[in-house]
Amino acid sequence: MRRISIFGATGSIGESTFDLLMRQGGPEAFHTVALTGGRNIKRLAEMARALRAEIAVTAYEDCYADLVEALGGSGIAVAAGPAALIEAAHRPADWVMSAIVGAAGLAPGFAALSQGRTLALANKESLVTAGPLLLGEARAHGATILPVDSEHSAIFQGLVGEDMAAVERIIITASGGAFRDWPMEKLAAATVAQASSHPNWDMGQRITIDSASMFNKALEVIEAKEFFAIAPERIEVVVHPQSIVHALVGFNDGGLMAHMGVPDMRHAIGYALNWPTRHKLPVERLDLAKIGQLDFRAPDPLRYPALRLAREVMEIGGMAGAAFNAAKETALDQFIAGRIGFLDMAGLVEDVLTDMSARQGLGNAAMSLDNVLHTDTEARRLALALCDQKR
Ligand code: NDP
Ligand code: MG
Repeated sequence: MRRISIFGATGSIGESTFDLLMRQGGPEAFHTVALTGGRNIKRLAEMARALRAEIAVTAYEDCYADLVEALGGSGIAVAAGPAALIEAAHRPADWVMSAIVGAAGLAPGFAALSQGRTLALANKESLVTAGPLLLGEARAHGATILPVDSEHSAIFQGLVGEDMAAVERIIITASGGAFRDWPMEKLAAATVAQASSHPNWDMGQRITIDSASMFNKALEVIEAKEFFAIAPERIEVVVHPQSIVHALVGFNDGGLMAHMGVPDMRHAIGYALNWPTRHKLPVERLDLAKIGQLDFRAPDPLRYPALRLAREVMEIGGMAGAAFNAAKETALDQFIAGRIGFLDMAGLVEDVLTDMSARQGLGNAAMSLDNVLHTDTEARRLALALCDQKR
């Protein structure tokens, strides 16, 4: 039986992964090693019981007692805290889903790779903050990384049987998020509730707000550069409001290979779960005649400064991705807390990048897990300080 673990089981990607596992036979078909969550203890315990997991881990020590109580009498082991997440990632497994949100997902994913596992990677922050490190660890231990972000899964599928030397460019689509058609002058006053609703995808709150600001797309461009080892100038972003085409690969004969499907993450998750084969998936089938029309347009650089920042991050290299992501996460926290406006997020991230690249030479820093985590901490501290100063 295939041994699987899900990190971030109680989140949006975690739930979709759980749903597919249950549909593909649940505990009769898979041996579940570890399921991890954060504060949603009730759901974590339900999932652990349903899949008869070896161990359930909450990332928060103050949730430990609740988890022990919720799993009482089940025989399922219980643990809490960041170190317990790493220990869980060291348990023997064949397939590990990395679906914790934010930089907190880096260390558990890294630990799974160090054991030679197949890592289904939804946590894009891992590649943004520490791409070369992660890929190096995978190579060193014979581990496999399978992309789960829908755009990257689409590109990955478009490249099956192809020679990278024949690839001219990749095109990542973006829905444009909640505010794609808002007048620019209204954006400054956009609320958290307004930014938290996505026109096409049903996702966690943080990535939904990142879609409205296109910080999500900025992360994805960097993620693509790292994962596919492709030069930044060969990565394009196009706004595609319907979210039907997830990405395209452009070849040297001028042909484009597009991946299409309904916006349902179970597609990309299912592909990673069943790779290298395909399995029948419970996703809605496209009715092209009903859709009628697909639209594409260039992203407006004034509306989406995050895309420009992504280019700068790739140019700086080194620790710039870690600083960028941490500043972005802090700016998002501050926006959600009502301390800064929607448009202030990009300004704050840019200030952190400028300040840190001048002071610390982000681009020349050696790539190590410690250095990434240190840069992450520094960027968060600086972002908070800048935020306080401005208030
Ligand atoms: P959610 O916010 O829905 O879920 C996040 C998961 O991580 C939950 O299980 C949560 O626990 C847990 N968690 C939160 N904070 C921590 C922490 N500090 N340490 C450990 N675990 C923590 O996120 P999504 O599922 O939307 O996204 C997960 C990842 O996948 C992100 O990196 C995102 O960018 C990426 N992704 C998501 C897509 C989507 O459709 N949702 C699409 C493509 C990529 P709890 O809820 O119990 O507190
Ligand atoms: Mg995506």
